[in-house]
Amino acid sequence: MVESAANSPYMSSGEHVAVLLPLPLGGPLGAGQGAAYDYRVPDGMTLNPGDFVRVPLGRRTSLGVVWGKGDGDVAPEKIKDVFERLDAPSMPDVQRQFIDWVAAYTLSAPGAVLKMAMSVPDALEPPKPVVAYRLASGMPELKKTAARQRVFDVLADGPPLIQADLAREAAVGVSVVSGLIKAGALVPVELMVQDDVSGPDWKSPGPELSGSQSDAAGVLVKAVADDGYDVTLLDGVPGSGKTEVYFQAVAEALKRGKQVLVLLPEIALSAQWLARFEERFGAPPLEWHSDLTPSVRRRNWRAIAEGRAGVVVGARSALFLPFVDLGLIVADEEHESAFKQEEGVIYNARDMAVVRSSLGDFPIVLCSATPSLETVVNVDEGRYRSLHLADRHGGAELPDVSLVDLRTAAPASTHWLSPVLVDEITKTIAAGEQAMLFLNRRGYAPLTLCRTCGHRFQCPNCTAWLVEHRRDNKRGRLVCHHCGFNTSTPTVCPSCENEGNFAACGPGVERLAEEVAELFPNIRADIATSDSISGPKAAADLVRRIEEHEVDLIIGTQIVAKGYHFPMLTLVGVVDGDLGLSGGDLRAAERTFQLLYQVAGRAGRAERPGRVLIQTHMPEHPVMQALVSGGREGFVETETKARREAKMPPFARLAAVVVSGKNAAQVDRVAMDLGRDAPRQEGLLVLGPAPAPLAMVRGRHRRRFLVRAPKAENMQKYLHRWLGHYKPPGNVRIQVDVDPYSFL
Ligand code: ADP
Ligand code: ZN
Repeated sequence: MVESAANSPYMSSGEHVAVLLPLPLGGPLGAGQGAAYDYRVPDGMTLNPGDFVRVPLGRRTSLGVVWGKGDGDVAPEKIKDVFERLDAPSMPDVQRQFIDWVAAYTLSAPGAVLKMAMSVPDALEPPKPVVAYRLASGMPELKKTAARQRVFDVLADGPPLIQADLAREAAVGVSVVSGLIKAGALVPVELMVQDDVSGPDWKSPGPELSGSQSDAAGVLVKAVADDGYDVTLLDGVPGSGKTEVYFQAVAEALKRGKQVLVLLPEIALSAQWLARFEERFGAPPLEWHSDLTPSVRRRNWRAIAEGRAGVVVGARSALFLPFVDLGLIVADEEHESAFKQEEGVIYNARDMAVVRSSLGDFPIVLCSATPSLETVVNVDEGRYRSLHLADRHGGAELPDVSLVDLRTAAPASTHWLSPVLVDEITKTIAAGEQAMLFLNRRGYAPLTLCRTCGHRFQCPNCTAWLVEHRRDNKRGRLVCHHCGFNTSTPTVCPSCENEGNFAACGPGVERLAEEVAELFPNIRADIATSDSISGPKAAADLVRRIEEHEVDLIIGTQIVAKGYHFPMLTLVGVVDGDLGLSGGDLRAAERTFQLLYQVAGRAGRAERPGRVLIQTHMPEHPVMQALVSGGREGFVETETKARREAKMPPFARLAAVVVSGKNAAQVDRVAMDLGRDAPRQEGLLVLGPAPAPLAMVRGRHRRRFLVRAPKAENMQKYLHRWLGHYKPPGNVRIQVDVDPYSFL
């Protein structure tokens, strides 16, 4: 482990410093080795822990962060000098501690975690000046035009502007401006752009809160004012005003000059959230997600590092931004598995956010209508406070949920909507309202086979069927939803060479759309999946079309399950309620409940009560029963009991170890070796090796261990003991997933 250097003094020329490089060196299992390199501080330079530096690395250079004093065991003739200290705000102590913590917990190389915290290397260079224009002092002879006059007017009583802005403000073409520059009427000045950061305004009042909302807000505001580590679960049915309540806490943090981070599981699709924020605080928050342009990323990163950004809303990666004075984190939809990063550094942003607030000693709010079992148990055991909002705002009723037993009320063959559901859709549309059909399956059909020989189209790289797509950008293709492999839908069977006699098996949203078009030729239906909604713009457009009632019926995957409020949407039909319940996933029941509960929450708001119909083959299943009765408590109780008895999380620790490689025999050998080497330890259980349910992904064969340990046990220590010294052959990779969410 690299020692965190929180209290080290500065280091002056001639001394050695340890520089952590943003490279996955020494990990995942040998964390500590090769994580930081020693360098000499050159003459005339002093360095502090946290400084960003450029250092030589082999024949090239690398950026890095001064992590502390060097350990002095590099020979003086071997050590190299730091090239330069970058003109960027240093990385705060608490962030370096956080990086070390995450690396240790997830068994990742500290450099791999640092890499996430240095995702915008450009931002480490000071901003470059831009060329702006002002009026020349001696005006050349020019023909007067109205357009030119407008340019003069803008500059007469304003600051110098860059060409594009000047043209925009004067409402003239850019050519008018460049003409004036050429004629010498405008002269260049170099300008440092200081972004206008008219940030969110905490003083704007927000809506008047109801009694219970106001009580909850009071508690959160006090926690922010008291300023110390403190975890609150804010729990309430969809539409109860959780967002309004935590906005009050955000306002309090801003008032105290603190920075705020709001984590949303799918920020790119949160158009409504952003609009509400801006309405409430008079300015948008800073966004952080993968859909930003490089220049916006660079600007936002810098604004956060310089403390100019008040509120940042982001996906999980926002946790690694260089906040200087973070005073509050909100993790909205805390139960969402989208918070789990499954590649590279495998971490859960919700859990790491709690760690971040503990290290930074400030409060955190976890928000959900269906909190995770982990969080519920933390509340029960007194580690987290809980605030509950019982009712929908404004007395709106929760939707009425009923089950459609597919065993007795079956749809016609190769149809997926039961007569009851069809009937409800008809009534809803006739009443001038909107409906949503939920099916968590992209594409046309999840499996395609040849009717003549039975050949099934399978991904060449994965243990998975190819999914036929007939619309959007994947039209006419068979696609693997695991690795992205795709091929055009063939006309001839590759196996028996018969002319296209293929059967589509089972429904995807596209097939459902076909059925809807057949049943209701006159309604305007729209599909919403990650294929049709590729980014924030498309999402915002969909939201607008639904809000303005340009669409009668939405067919969607989980992308439409959360967070949206549509006043005219009164019917939700769940096409296959059982979809998530199969398979050996620890959280299958919990996740299905959460997802369907969230989907149901889309129905009915304001004065129009909603109806939810769930089609299922298992109406007696506890998940279905809990959804019908609206009683989350009953479900949580049963599920908690089952987990406790099975000694599973949250009542035990779990880690997955996945061995993978291109050569199946080699992978098997490594897995067997590791299995034999697993140290025996009282109370600790190592299951496996077994082929992972997805035995092959992206051409890599996978074998899996599950390690279960009592809560009091140090899982990381055990994994180090087991795997720390093992060097797998070059082509085999060993990946550790602490607190696994995916069991594939
Ligand atoms: P949740 O986050 O619990 O789903 P929201 O905060 O999104 O609930 O509130 C649901 C809807 O009710 C939103 O449109 C919100 O603006 C409105 N709302 C909630 N509380 C109030 C309030 N006190 N005054 C006015 N509107 C409110
Ligand atoms: Zn594949």
